[in-house]
Amino acid sequence: MLTRCGIGRLLLYDYDKVELANMKRLFFRPEQVGMTKTDAAVHNLSDINPDVVLETYTLNITTVHGFETFISSLKNKSFHPTEEGSGVDLVLSCVDNYEARMAVNQACNELNQTWMESGVSEDAVSGHRQLLIPGETACFACATPLVVASGVDERTLKREGICAASLPTTMGCNSLKDYFPTMEMRPNPQCSHAVCLERQKEYLLAKLARDAAAKTKMEAESFLATGIPLHADNEWNISVVDDSELEKTDARGSGDL
Ligand SMILES: [Zn+2]
Repeated sequence: MLTRCGIGRLLLYDYDKVELANMKRLFFRPEQVGMTKTDAAVHNLSDINPDVVLETYTLNITTVHGFETFISSLKNKSFHPTEEGSGVDLVLSCVDNYEARMAVNQACNELNQTWMESGVSEDAVSGHRQLLIPGETACFACATPLVVASGVDERTLKREGICAASLPTTMGCNSLKDYFPTMEMRPNPQCSHAVCLERQKEYLLAKLARDAAAKTKMEAESFLATGIPLHADNEWNISVVDDSELEKTDARGSGDL
């Protein structure tokens, strides 16, 4: 969908190969069985929109080498050379295990990168989506899933009622019940992830400055509305000028304010 929208540049990470079992849900074709998912994806996506720049990384981001490549590829600022931090606008996590989610969380916290996490419920009739803005909202480690917190190897887990064969149609089943709860998750001041705590501090400091600026603006607006000065003394003779006065000044040609 992003490719059809002309997203600009799309970076894809996957180490899997296409299997017949993927046909019902993903956009691969039977003759692509055995190809890496990244190669098959490039093939199909460049057919859909040849103008989108596709970068593929056939690697596992939970390995040391994979993680290093993942983070350095996100840092590549060839598309946003003047901006600080990460070189991408958004990271979308579409993975099926907690280990990979924790790796994405680690990288995004380090890069101060906004990302979205998504997943299908175990009974495959519902799902979740989470927006993660480092420091501002909870990171994935702020409310650690029980499996991760308990240190159990998730690959060894066998639970009842898990549907391995999810279908795109059944995943939206909760829409039949019209049940879409949303909640706000604030960051955990005791998060186990040290970088998350740093981001939380940065966010709070920036918020103090933002709140102060908003207060000044509000005071100026209330002065304009009432005409009563907020401060009795005005040592520097600072005055507030109506916007319409400024426009008149502009129209006369002395535009530089
Ligand atoms: Zn956290």
